[in-house]
Amino acid sequence: MRGEKAVNRYSEVRKGSRFIDELCQRFPDIPRSIVIKSDVLRNGTRFTPLIHELGQQSFPHFLIWNPGHVWNPDLKDVEEGQIITVPWKFDLSDGTPVVIRFDRDSPYEITRQEDGRLSLQRDGESVEEVSVEPATEWLYKTTSSGTLMTSVFMSWSRLGLLACALRYCEYTKTGDQCVYCCLDASIEEFKDRGFQYTMSIQPEDAAETYRAAQEEVGFIESVAMTGGSLRNTNKEMEHYVAIFGALDKVRKEMGKPTWFAGCMTARPDLSILRELREAGLDSIAPNMDCWEESLWPEIVPGKHKYVGRDYWIESLTKSLEIFGKGNVASVFVVGPEMSASTGFKREEDGIASWTRCFEWLLERDIIPATSQWQVEVGSPWSDRVPPSTDYFLSVARARHRIMEDSGMHRDMHHNYYKNAAWSTDVDFRRLVGGCRCDNCR
Ligand code: SF4
Repeated sequence: MRGEKAVNRYSEVRKGSRFIDELCQRFPDIPRSIVIKSDVLRNGTRFTPLIHELGQQSFPHFLIWNPGHVWNPDLKDVEEGQIITVPWKFDLSDGTPVVIRFDRDSPYEITRQEDGRLSLQRDGESVEEVSVEPATEWLYKTTSSGTLMTSVFMSWSRLGLLACALRYCEYTKTGDQCVYCCLDASIEEFKDRGFQYTMSIQPEDAAETYRAAQEEVGFIESVAMTGGSLRNTNKEMEHYVAIFGALDKVRKEMGKPTWFAGCMTARPDLSILRELREAGLDSIAPNMDCWEESLWPEIVPGKHKYVGRDYWIESLTKSLEIFGKGNVASVFVVGPEMSASTGFKREEDGIASWTRCFEWLLERDIIPATSQWQVEVGSPWSDRVPPSTDYFLSVARARHRIMEDSGMHRDMHHNYYKNAAWSTDVDFRRLVGGCRCDNCR
């Protein structure tokens, strides 16, 4: 199955840069960089020693969702016990960021040209010049508790930080993890390798790391927090309140208007949501991940079994009361609905389903955000074949059109565009919508 992933179902072309040229002809309204990004997200990138070298110069793809494991069959030329540092992303020539996920069958590889510049190749044919953002120094400093700062926050870009507040998910304990998620697989590997690995970040470490990043960079535009789920959601929320409270203290002291975002499902309880808001959280995203109710048992079994879809919708509605329009979103993973046994057989039905989803949420002032399904090693569906790049582009285009029509792009906060390497949402806003705000330039 894996070898068939690069099939372009709308033509016979499977290889090289012509594949991209054809996609661009079929989607003339979508900039080439978005087309390339969507295809790379679908197919991944091949590991080469150059990637390791670039990892030492840029922001590392570190500690969570890290594909750099010896057990990862997609990595070749790696000796047992060798620790790999790889960049989180590379940037296309117009700045569009693209996350690096390894796949040994991918047609994509990054090479260095004779003049030293980096090139993205598809089946050995040059597609685009690329670059990596140079690393900052705070990444490899430690907090006063001795914790490596880049294990507290990873840098999405120079201006954006991400923390995984809880590095495990209770749904995996009963075999109910979401089909695309590899969170726990990564953690076991790190523990086996002898890394000191705390299961949750400490508020003091978060505050110190944020301060160090601010001091070096001058302005951290956003701090995002995500993580696994606890079945005791109260405990989960207490942890987030403590972390945001500690970060907010530093933000106020330093007088920098960093945006704090949290991908979490708070209980649909106004007092808890108010507490999060008062602790400093600016926007919240209870991520449903899967839209169609009938697909929840297959795609997000833990969420379905222990929490339920109605709870998510209630959490979104209550969040809106506290955080207000433009500050409440829900992220959806686009793609698994085409692979599920109870899913869609025709791509047009999948696109129609997402269109209904986006319209439904925007009619209620909730932002639908998307993440393109990337088939991760260690996830339950690691051997599945994702839908075509055409499908991903069609869904993303539909979302953009609905976002523009609703006026939500105008009403929402825009995070720095280089932070969003795994999704094309922001690229559409910037390159198709033409937004020229400070964070889209
Ligand atoms: S809720 Fe799903 S996506 Fe989130 S950490 Fe748990 S298994 Fe992974």
